[in-house]
Amino acid sequence: MPADDPAHRLAEVHAAIAKAARTAGRPRDAVTLIAVSKTHPIAAIRPLIDAGQRVFGENRVQEAQTKWPALRAAAPDISLHLIGQLQSNKADEAVALFDAIHSVDRVSLVTALAKAMDKAGRRPACFVQVNIGAEEQKGGVAIADLPALLAEARGAELPVAGLMCLPPAAVEPAPYFALLARLARDEGVAGLSMGMSSDYPTAVTLGATHVRVGTALFGTRA
Ligand SMILES: *Cc1c(COP(=O)(O)O)cnc(C)c1O
Repeated sequence: MPADDPAHRLAEVHAAIAKAARTAGRPRDAVTLIAVSKTHPIAAIRPLIDAGQRVFGENRVQEAQTKWPALRAAAPDISLHLIGQLQSNKADEAVALFDAIHSVDRVSLVTALAKAMDKAGRRPACFVQVNIGAEEQKGGVAIADLPALLAEARGAELPVAGLMCLPPAAVEPAPYFALLARLARDEGVAGLSMGMSSDYPTAVTLGATHVRVGTALFGTRA
């Protein structure tokens, strides 16, 4: 099997997760690998499904709508996670398509998602995205506003599964992962969606329950 074979890459990522979990004294099955397939065509995704991967992440509703109905027809047990920013006017479509939404970051979106979930009769797991590095250009709720947003989400009966973050680029991510873990503890939230191709082993040692890995599985995006 060549080293760039998708199944081989998948095995390597699983091994790295298992190693990091062991280092931290955490059970391997406490960590879910989300294979981030954004920008990659159906033909690139199929080999990973064939290799047993079942949890995937996309960052745009419209792109996911074009790719996943066909892929799901072949593997109905797939779990699809939205990891990108979501506009309130796309809440209905997101609720219909995704099993988890990692980008809940404002009250207006909480309201739109609650309405969409009531209408659809399905309730995807929700992660509240935190702007962990207080970066102006990034999505996510400010740390100071997190308790109020969580209260809104719980009040609206969104199934709050955890917190999500994207640390600032090009700096050591560990302090940001540790901060998100502490916020989750303080707020009584179980899940931690953190860690990407460059840093997922670190995230696992600091408590990640969901790592979002694209490049390490699919190669560089165009
Ligand atoms: C693209 C993306 C990822 C995956 O990034 P890689 O570096 O390719 O692993 C993870 N999380 C979010 C929110 C993304 O947009």
